[in-house]
Amino acid sequence: MRDWNCVVIVGAGPVGLISAVCLAQSGIPSILLEASPTTPRDLRASTVHPPTLDMLDEIGVADDYIKLGIITECWQLIHLRTRERVRFDLSAIKDHTRHPYRLQCEQYNLMPILFERARVCGLVDIHLGAEVTEITQDEDWVVAHATQDGEPRAFGGRYLVGADGAHSIVRRSLGLPFEGFTYDHSTTLITTPFRFENEIPELVGANYTWTPLDAGSMFRLRDEWRCTFYPRPGEADVELTDDVIESRMQGILTRPAPYSVREKRTYKIHQRIVPDYRQGRIVLAGDAAHVTPPTGGLGMNGGIHDAVNLADKLARIFKGESDGLLDLYTRQRRPVAVAEILAQSHQNRIRMQLWDPEQRKEVMTHMRGIAADPERSKQMLLRTSMIEGLRQAAAVQ
Ligand SMILES: Cc1cc2nc3c(=O)[nH]c(=O)nc-3n(C[C@H](O)[C@H](O)[C@H](O)COP(=O)(O)OP(=O)(O)OC[C@H]3O[C@@H](n4cnc5c(N)ncnc54)[C@H](O)[C@@H]3O)c2cc1C
Repeated sequence: MRDWNCVVIVGAGPVGLISAVCLAQSGIPSILLEASPTTPRDLRASTVHPPTLDMLDEIGVADDYIKLGIITECWQLIHLRTRERVRFDLSAIKDHTRHPYRLQCEQYNLMPILFERARVCGLVDIHLGAEVTEITQDEDWVVAHATQDGEPRAFGGRYLVGADGAHSIVRRSLGLPFEGFTYDHSTTLITTPFRFENEIPELVGANYTWTPLDAGSMFRLRDEWRCTFYPRPGEADVELTDDVIESRMQGILTRPAPYSVREKRTYKIHQRIVPDYRQGRIVLAGDAAHVTPPTGGLGMNGGIHDAVNLADKLARIFKGESDGLLDLYTRQRRPVAVAEILAQSHQNRIRMQLWDPEQRKEVMTHMRGIAADPERSKQMLLRTSMIEGLRQAAAVQ
């Protein structure tokens, strides 16, 4: 028998790393292949939901991550001009999670913590700069063919997790369709050290924002604010010229001095999913399996939930259970991705992109009705915090 009694994981993003760390906790060795020679520092996730923090706690990394961010007990929909708002307090779900709040902390802060955890456990063979180009499998094994330091290499294992993100080579190697669509308009993200919290006392840590001319969100991080903007009606995308950015920022709060901008990026938004997460010995997780608009902060969170579920199934298979458990993984996680992750992100995006003042008023009134009713409010928070989706998945046998 070949000495391949391990899991090969392609991609050391949050999903690949969590898969490796969870497998190691069950005593299962893995080979982790990452194309990039270093951890990326691009602007991506910053919202982490309560059950994800519970999971990070179980692998012993939550405290270190929480220290680097801001705890946000409330989120709200706010009209920045009228200051009308409707607020939801996550303490309403304190009996359902050990972390009844959102953490606002950059994804790139989580990565070194997870890498360190993977390194010290002794069961994760990490290969940075190993770009996987093709996957092959037979009845017993699966092999990732990669290029590392200009040389071809092959890494074999009993199973392979494709956690290589939206452009997944694993998914493409399998010829799986990525069904769905790309939204017509991009979203623009701008970060600024300006202390909005000192000027707009109605703000909380997580704000979904309207102004007469704009729609977007404002998230408070440790030492900056993240402001997102959708294109205005009739506009293709928000142009990232200094003038345009300045006028958008002045739309949040008019001030005589220009805003200092740290980073800016425009990104395309997709809603796509594969028809099946499993093909033989190969399983997809995270963005490799599904991509969604960031509104509501569900993509990385959902991917981490995939990884924890999948690592549990793989550990049980290594201990002798049937690998039909991998089909159970798809049956549990795919419907949740469709109904809770993709559908919710889409609804959030559509709701925020209402421009008609009457329609916005109707949404405010509707949301206020929910906030005023403790039971409805709790149900909504269980859903938006992703606890409901995890329960639905656990109920599937
Ligand atoms: C602006 C923005 C804001 C967001 N905000 C949120 C948020 O607040 N909350 C949230 O939950 N989600 C958010 N998301 C989504 C979140 O960033 C993604 O869902 C998350 O990164 C997915 O993790 P992943 O590990 O599946 O994939 P990735 O993070 O993309 O990691 C994949 C890894 O695989 C590696 N790789 C790729 N190809 C290969 C190959 N051929 N060989 C080897 N390695 C390879 C890549 O280098 C990468 O390191 C946001 C996204 C964006 C763009």
